[in-house]
Amino acid sequence: MARKLEPSQTERASARKEVILYTENFLNNIEKIKAFNYSHDKGQGLLKAPISERPISMKKAVQLIKNNVDYPAANPASGGYLGYIPGGGVYYSSLGDYLAAVTNRFAGIFYTSPGAVRMENMLIQWTAKILGYPSNCGGNISSGGSLANLIGICTARDTKEINSKNIDRSVIYLSPQAHHSIHKAIRMAGLGECIIRLVELDKGYRIDSGQLKKQILEDKRKKLKPFLVIASAGTTDVGAVDPLQEIGMLAKAYKLWYHVDAAYGGFFALTKKGKAKLKGIELSDSLSIDPHKGLFLPYGIGIVLVKDKKRMNATHYYQANYMQDSLSENDEASPCDVSPELTKHFRGLRMWLPLQLHGKKPFRACLEEKLLLANYFYREIKKLGFVTGPKPDLTVVTYRFVPKIGNADDFNKELLEAVKMDGRVFISSTILEGKFTLRFACLSFRSHLNNVDLLLKILKAEKQKIERRLKV
Ligand SMILES: *Cc1c(COP(=O)(O)O)cnc(C)c1O
Repeated sequence: MARKLEPSQTERASARKEVILYTENFLNNIEKIKAFNYSHDKGQGLLKAPISERPISMKKAVQLIKNNVDYPAANPASGGYLGYIPGGGVYYSSLGDYLAAVTNRFAGIFYTSPGAVRMENMLIQWTAKILGYPSNCGGNISSGGSLANLIGICTARDTKEINSKNIDRSVIYLSPQAHHSIHKAIRMAGLGECIIRLVELDKGYRIDSGQLKKQILEDKRKKLKPFLVIASAGTTDVGAVDPLQEIGMLAKAYKLWYHVDAAYGGFFALTKKGKAKLKGIELSDSLSIDPHKGLFLPYGIGIVLVKDKKRMNATHYYQANYMQDSLSENDEASPCDVSPELTKHFRGLRMWLPLQLHGKKPFRACLEEKLLLANYFYREIKKLGFVTGPKPDLTVVTYRFVPKIGNADDFNKELLEAVKMDGRVFISSTILEGKFTLRFACLSFRSHLNNVDLLLKILKAEKQKIERRLKV
């Protein structure tokens, strides 16, 4: 029985056949599979097949996944997925994951897998170069932007020596539009007792650097200890890029640690327009960027860069007796020394493989296409009579319809529901200045003009239906 965990060559082939059958069918029909499915049982069928002593077949397992995991609710692999922050999930990453899982290299430490660690460090350096960071910076491939932000913020805490003696005088500057993972990271880093200043924004929902300066000076006068400022290179709500250069200069002048959350927008630096928008990002001390957004990789990969790798190491390094074999002076940095993780998924392979097999060009082309699509949507949705938020810095457009009579929030909630019911495209919403607002977020490599036109068509038709019913 103990040998059962090693399936034979024939058993492997038959299991693989079922998986391939399903995934090929999924990909071949991806344009027809809905972006959102209403489901009543929400995957409860899984509970009817509890883990037991008796094995089930791969065919049955795939069926369970299909019906209970892949069917209900959102389908982020669809080109019609235009909500939250999309990405899509490029195919070759799945083969990278497959290779990483079959060979199971230990990618946490250089000693155990120099190749795996070298590959991850090479990708970190490649990312650093795109963003204008020095090649000797520190970095880590994490599970996503949230962990990347946490690593950056913990490093800032230790570098600026925030401790029980000064914490209640220490000040952090944030945009009210900062992603919630930043607030979470601040709390988890033990910085919840710091003074948090939400800096005023300009009309485009970007940090007003004049206000930031004013606030820092005021805090200094009060003998407080300003130590950290966090900017966004693409906010989740509206896709706004803060004035990265101006904030960088203030951070330098007042000796603040400067962290940029570029989880969403960072990879636009691969494009000409994006690079111009992100100017000044290279002034930061640390930043986070998500390949599972801007490089369209499947979920589960973020990157944090820290300019001074010694600082990153000082925060995350630990040594134990049973780790003594892994010590060596001039090796590549080991991921376990710059992150909370020890044993980890060999994430580098899922990024390295698609970049190698496609080359950079199609990634850049896709990002350029999304920038154009966002501008297109911004123009077209206005023509349908919707009120829009700011002109998109990147690929998020906010919009709402204001009916002549009746409650506008209710109207837009109803419209969102109608789009979800239709299911061919998926959109999400937010609250801006107290108003219920719809969001268009375009970042899947599979989203093209046809998906955007379909969204416009559905919005127009559903809006008219609601208007007719309300007789407005
Ligand atoms: C997505 C996102 C995050 C969080 O990243 P995860 O990869 O979801 O953990 C942080 N900041 C911004 C701006 C984001 O868009």
